[in-house]
Amino acid sequence: MLLYLINPYNPMVSVVKSKQNRWNRYTVWKPLGLLVVAALTPTDWETEIFDENVERKDYSGLPVPDLIGITAFTSQADRAYALAKEFKSRGVTVVMGGIHATMCPEEASRYVDSIVTGEAEKVWADVLADTATGRLKPLYSGTHGSLSKSPIPRHDLLAHGYRFGSLQTTRGCPLSCNFCSVTAFNGRHYRHRPIPDLIKEYALIREKLVLVVDDNFIGTRKEHIERTKNLLRAIIVSGIKKKWIAQVTLNFGDDEELLSLAAKAGCIGVFVGFESVSSAGLKEIHKQFNIRKLAGIKPAVKRIHRHGISVVGSFIIGLDIDKKHVGKDIAFAAQLYGIDALNVMFLTPLPGTVLWEEMRSSHRIILNKYPGDWMYYTLTFPVARYNHLSWSEMIAEKDDCYRSFYSYGGILRRIWANILQLRNPLVTFVSNLWYRRNTLRLDREAYEMFDTKPGLVPQSQSDSHRRT
Ligand code: SF4
Repeated sequence: MLLYLINPYNPMVSVVKSKQNRWNRYTVWKPLGLLVVAALTPTDWETEIFDENVERKDYSGLPVPDLIGITAFTSQADRAYALAKEFKSRGVTVVMGGIHATMCPEEASRYVDSIVTGEAEKVWADVLADTATGRLKPLYSGTHGSLSKSPIPRHDLLAHGYRFGSLQTTRGCPLSCNFCSVTAFNGRHYRHRPIPDLIKEYALIREKLVLVVDDNFIGTRKEHIERTKNLLRAIIVSGIKKKWIAQVTLNFGDDEELLSLAAKAGCIGVFVGFESVSSAGLKEIHKQFNIRKLAGIKPAVKRIHRHGISVVGSFIIGLDIDKKHVGKDIAFAAQLYGIDALNVMFLTPLPGTVLWEEMRSSHRIILNKYPGDWMYYTLTFPVARYNHLSWSEMIAEKDDCYRSFYSYGGILRRIWANILQLRNPLVTFVSNLWYRRNTLRLDREAYEMFDTKPGLVPQSQSDSHRRT
């Protein structure tokens, strides 16, 4: 039996333009979920994985498979449905899983033969067995079970061409920010994989740079942090010399032992979701955890830097409290905190989130012609009606933020700070130039593509009202 697992592309995501600039490869993450599904697939199935973010295939030239498995974030849903249509027209059975199918199962089931919601571990064997006997059910509900038996993902099945390997050590997040679908998809219970399995997998990953894809690598409680420290000790003892980056909460900077272990285990950078520069903004998005840390951000960033670890900060534009000048305020705060790179996203109501329910019930979602409009749900596109900012003002605020933070003077100051702190200035130099040159340009191209569709761009608040 032949199985194709496909990660669909999204035409509005700049990473698909990786051939235009080799640095863009640093923003292409491996579709780890598909590697897990491949590992759950018995050897009597021949499995191939296609990641359209790296390479587009002409599937008509390939052998006809017995089953297609498609994963999709919301922004990939429209392409996922097009793929399903293409394969179904050739008589191939199509199954869809991932976050979008989990959050919008009714919509997805109109395009595919079967849906897998939640995590695949407990149900994938049933999907394959039922496919083989022609008794596929329309829905398989995965659960948030223990990860103790989760298999080691099939990294060997993906082609070369990625700058980062990927590793997942935990699932779930104990926090519940209103814009985030992690708790709806993976649950609030913080679950972790066995450390021996992780070391084995870490050694198998061929790339020298690894992205730890956990939504929250260290967790929030004492026992979570202890688990992370034990993992870091095991990496150090293993002697595997790789560099890695991870997504962490602000408490990463509170614990000197954790920082020291992380640095020794190869950590070169962390992504931190600061989200908003004000406590009112953090309260609005239910990120109370950060409010308690607001006053201590600058010293925490300094402590992280002292261990040679860089900090990339992520912020959101479009909160109800955000007014004109929010872009410059974010850039100013990011410079004050001393972070090395800055990433800005637009507040986006993703299905399954509290924000989605709130915005949908108050008719604030502008791009709502689904499934076609899902491709704009990349977090780099304003898709809703924002309280104080029009569509074009949102984009202008983001531009202002990047232009201010990534001015040549700002970049030089950060490089100089890196040299003084004995950190690697090259990482900061490259990431800053990448943001300055690519993000502004590629996002602008996407906005212009959108702009060419007559009547679709709400130029003012009143236009926005007309769309809803
Ligand atoms: S944004 Fe981060 S901290 Fe908040 S719920 Fe999602 S994963 Fe957890």
